Amino acid sequence: MSWGALRGVGRDQRKLMADLSTAVSRRIDIPADPPLVFQALCLAMSERRSGRPIVLVERAFPEEASGTTGLWLDTKEQDIIVLEESLEPDHKLVVLGHELWHVEAGHRHDLGGAAVAARAALAGHQDWPEIARTIAARSHSHQADEVDAERFGILMGSSMGRWLATPGTRRLDDVARRIGESLGYSGPQGN
Ligand SMILES: [Zn+2]
Repeated sequence: MSWGALRGVGRDQRKLMADLSTAVSRRIDIPADPPLVFQALCLAMSERRSGRPIVLVERAFPEEASGTTGLWLDTKEQDIIVLEESLEPDHKLVVLGHELWHVEAGHRHDLGGAAVAARAALAGHQDWPEIARTIAARSHSHQADEVDAERFGILMGSSMGRWLATPGTRRLDDVARRIGESLGYSGPQGN
C-alpha cells in the first residue's frame, strides 16, 4: 500500500495536523470511540477559530448526490459538517479531515440560502435528500482545493486512524481507494 499521496503535504497541513493531534490527545484518552475522537477534533478546530461552533452531523446522502460522502455548510452562526452515516469509522475520519481542511483554508462555496435551508433540513429531517443534491452539486467543485482537502483527509486518516477504538474492517480498502482516487484525480468527484 502506497502513501504516495502524502508526499505533497505542505508545512501548513502538517502544522494543522500536529496542532489538532495535540489538542485531541489532551482532551480524550486515546484510543477512543470514533464519535468521541470526531467530536474532539471539531472542538479543537472550533478553538482555533475563536470558538465558532463546528457541528458534526451524520446523515445518509442520496445516491444522486454524485457519491458525496461529506459536506461543509458555512452558516452565519456556525459551521456544520455532514458525514455519510454508513461509512466505516476510519473512512469517516478521512472525510472529516477533508472537510476540516476546507474549513481551515476557507474554501467557501457560494451556497447562499441553500446552507440555511440545509441546516433546517438537517434539524427537521425533511427535504434533506433534495437539498443534499443541490449543495453537493455546488461543493467540492474547485479541483485544486479538492486535491488539498483530500490530501489532508488522508493525512488525518493515516495519522489518527489508530486512535479509533473500533477500526473498521474495511480500513485498508477504503483508505487505499481514496489514495488511488487522489493520485488519479480527474475532476470533481463530489466526495
Ligand atoms: Zn471537498
